[in-house]
Amino acid sequence: MKNCTLCKIQVREYAARGLCWACYSKGRRQGKWAIRYDNKPVTLERLDLAWMAGFFDGEGSISLSVHTQPKNRIQVQIQITNSIKATLEPFSKYFSGNINKHYRKNPKELPQYKWSLQSAKKSYEFLNRFMPYFRAKADVAELAIKALEIQLNHKPRKGFGYTDDQIEFFKETKQNIIRLNKCS
Ligand SMILES: [Zn+2]
Repeated sequence: MKNCTLCKIQVREYAARGLCWACYSKGRRQGKWAIRYDNKPVTLERLDLAWMAGFFDGEGSISLSVHTQPKNRIQVQIQITNSIKATLEPFSKYFSGNINKHYRKNPKELPQYKWSLQSAKKSYEFLNRFMPYFRAKADVAELAIKALEIQLNHKPRKGFGYTDDQIEFFKETKQNIIRLNKCS
């Protein structure tokens, strides 16, 4: 298990520099370090990913649901809704997840397509991959990553759910995410 060298919180993966995402992002906002770009050649795949990061930053959504009945459980929801299916195809290509078609009540309106990620592990990978590029979604993504870190490190033993502190953190995080989503 790794620990952030600054705040000592347990993390699955370092964001960079031996730091958790919260400490890394905070330092970045304070201008302590720039995003580290590498010098790898620009391939079609890398261009796709750069486009996806920007598209998701503007059009995507990140939310957290917290359930306490019948047992404690959380889910981070990552999705994008768009009326043009081709905009969503790169996301299912690189990260899997489903694209579903939704018809509108008003037949004059175009049907909508929704891409969504279900698995916590995939969501964690997705957010970590794009975190350095997020602008609008940086704060929400950071909170979602923290919740996912707790979820993925949690090994439920028989009869033991999340601790009260963890549930409290999830509920608080859910409200903070709702608040931040309203601002953007
Ligand atoms: Zn930290």
